[in-house]
Amino acid sequence: MAVLKKNKIVVVGAGNVGESVVFSLMLKRVTNEVVMIDLNEDRAEGSAYDLADATAFYHHTTIRKGGYEECADAEIIIITAGIARKPGQTRLDLAKTNVSIVEGITKNIMQHADDPIIIVVSNPVDVLTYIVQKNSGLPANRVIGSGTTLDTARLRRLLSEKCDVSITDVNAYILGEHGDTQVPIWSRATIGEEDLVTYMKKLDANVNLDEIAETAKKGGATIIAKKGATFLGIAMCTARIAEAILKDENAVLPVAHVLGEEYGEWSDVAISLPTVVNKSGIVRTIDIPLSDAEKEAMNVSAKTLRDFTNDVMN
Ligand code: NAD
Repeated sequence: MAVLKKNKIVVVGAGNVGESVVFSLMLKRVTNEVVMIDLNEDRAEGSAYDLADATAFYHHTTIRKGGYEECADAEIIIITAGIARKPGQTRLDLAKTNVSIVEGITKNIMQHADDPIIIVVSNPVDVLTYIVQKNSGLPANRVIGSGTTLDTARLRRLLSEKCDVSITDVNAYILGEHGDTQVPIWSRATIGEEDLVTYMKKLDANVNLDEIAETAKKGGATIIAKKGATFLGIAMCTARIAEAILKDENAVLPVAHVLGEEYGEWSDVAISLPTVVNKSGIVRTIDIPLSDAEKEAMNVSAKTLRDFTNDVMN
């Protein structure tokens, strides 16, 4: 599929994640122009120079530091700015700090951009997706949270290793919150065309799906404990979302957006579902039949996120 001719991307936040997102965008050859914005202008400039050097023997991409006026003609704006949790800081305090950072960023973006597509990556990603959508006034389908793309990537990698099949032949999702209440959807998961649970039991009668889901859920914490931060996995997930938009793919991705009334118990919260993404942003969600237990777990996830979002805003 051809990439749209107009394909400028602005990345706000040139830290570990922002820098890695730009590198992944370049590797995927989906853009010719990236502008990096950061409160720390030296960081943005240093990252842009370093990344621009990396383009020399690869794919022509102009990468430079800039200001919010660059959002005026950007197709996509990716928000990766935020602060990491400080010792003693609660999850709620951290969320409030990042909400206030992202509110300021949204205001700056909307002073210049008319109808952008915004991808939110900063954490807590579902809450911030909600805040950006409400503060920007953009339609819900144009504010996309990276949601459970990373959790789904982790689950698929684990399953691919356990089942000894290519990761591209594992079809399994984690939906709901990017966090503790995330929901692995075992009832619809397949290896090739075969039901995943049946496939795995044939390989190993004692296979423990709960353990696999728990390992996926703890994936971020495991990496942080060993190297201090996670950024490469989320970077490729984010670049994949941008690619689906710029190539007008109608790709199905487990991303978050603020759900409307028609979603009943899941409405008015940003939560991940299998979602069709193209150059307009989110087109629709896929209504996969869930088991009763999965439906109930999704209800809990939506309620947890709604309550947490309300706490953060109050
Ligand atoms: P980092 O500290 O390396 O980078 C953050 C950058 O944001 C810094 O360069 C900082 O100067 C900048 N910044 C802070 N306030 C700003 C503002 N008001 N305007 C512009 N820039 C500002 O952190 P990181 O490792 O790159 O992580 C960034 C965010 O991504 C965090 O919130 C992290 O939790 C999140 N993250 C999300 C996922 C996911 O799955 N959604 C995965 C990994 C990390």
